[in-house]
Amino acid sequence: MTPIPNLTTRAARAGAHSPPGRALPLAPALHQTTVNTYPDLAALHRVLDGEEDGQVYYRFGHYNGQVLERAVADLEGATDAVATASGMAALTGIVLALVEAGGHVVADRNAYGGTRHLLDVDLPRLGIETTLVDAADLAEVERALTRRTGLLLVEALTNPTVRVPDLPALVDLAAGFGATVAVDATFAGPALFRPLDHGADLVWHSIPKYLGGHSAAMGGIVAGDSGLVDLVRQSVVSLGATLGPFDAWMALLGLKTLPLRMRAHTQGAAVVAEFLAGHPAVARVHHPSLPGHPHATTAARLYPDGTGGMLSFELAGGRPAVDELIRRLGPAIPLSPSLADVATTLVHPATTTHRSLPPDELAALGITEGLIRLSVGVEDPADLVAELGAALG
Ligand SMILES: *Cc1c(COP(=O)(O)O)cnc(C)c1O
Repeated sequence: MTPIPNLTTRAARAGAHSPPGRALPLAPALHQTTVNTYPDLAALHRVLDGEEDGQVYYRFGHYNGQVLERAVADLEGATDAVATASGMAALTGIVLALVEAGGHVVADRNAYGGTRHLLDVDLPRLGIETTLVDAADLAEVERALTRRTGLLLVEALTNPTVRVPDLPALVDLAAGFGATVAVDATFAGPALFRPLDHGADLVWHSIPKYLGGHSAAMGGIVAGDSGLVDLVRQSVVSLGATLGPFDAWMALLGLKTLPLRMRAHTQGAAVVAEFLAGHPAVARVHHPSLPGHPHATTAARLYPDGTGGMLSFELAGGRPAVDELIRRLGPAIPLSPSLADVATTLVHPATTTHRSLPPDELAALGITEGLIRLSVGVEDPADLVAELGAALG
């Protein structure tokens, strides 16, 4: 007869081997465990050898991470994905997997600030050369590519002026040099734009933005062909940049409503962009739905359902007008240095997201003292227009 363990022993083992039962939970279960158990060595070896699905130790991959990875791979049209501790961990994993010392990376100078820091500071220290280009200028990209270029990094939509690089054309150029194309699609998401469908090799996201959508789940994710994703996964595991189960679980809950949210973000941004474009206090609006946008045609071709909730606008009154507008809008439309929440938020790119750039580069990117970036949420657009109208005076 099996002896009954004492209370201390039973407490230590509580819930450890609870069978899943017949009734499956509708929401995925949270498996917040760092390690799993096996009935015998042969069963463990089958998982270690990749003959059977399963999880061993969390840093190599775990249940909730795998549930999220399969869901994102499916939405992106990829065969595999790897979840990471942050968006930057996703990018670091991609670069370290695909480029070595002596190698070369070409990237958009309009890229996210953290991406720019990795390119400008960290990669040169590792002996990796980077060339910055305007990814919307195909001739400049072609001049930058060489036989040594391992990676071309572009963003599906750029921050804060919502530029739209022509991905199919970039993929063609990169193919001529054998460079892998990785797309940061954080501003778009697979409901609006699937880079792999346009020939990109990898797509990656910062989860707190549209994929998660509620500014709660942290993390990043990379999707693509399983051969490439496997290489990225090895880097991520070595870097120790695995996403934790709870964040993976929350990200999956957010992912379920991604297409619904993107429809509302897109519709709201178009209404707000049109309103701002007609307001006398506003000097300029950057949004691809407006006919004057330099990439309106590319956007219409690549984004038939619209480009989501990001837009930026310039106040004629410059920096003083920015301070006044932020004061009047809060807390209805708060100053918040992130984006893609279901609630509308704003930032001042010149002094937040792009504060490390020198003045001449800010000017070249169109980031003036009067520029505000708005992340349009899923509220009723009529309310947003009324609030912006009241605050603009
Ligand atoms: C936020 C963001 C990142 C970085 O993601 P983290 O999760 O903050 O590491 C990368 N690219 C874009 C476009 C972003 O908005």
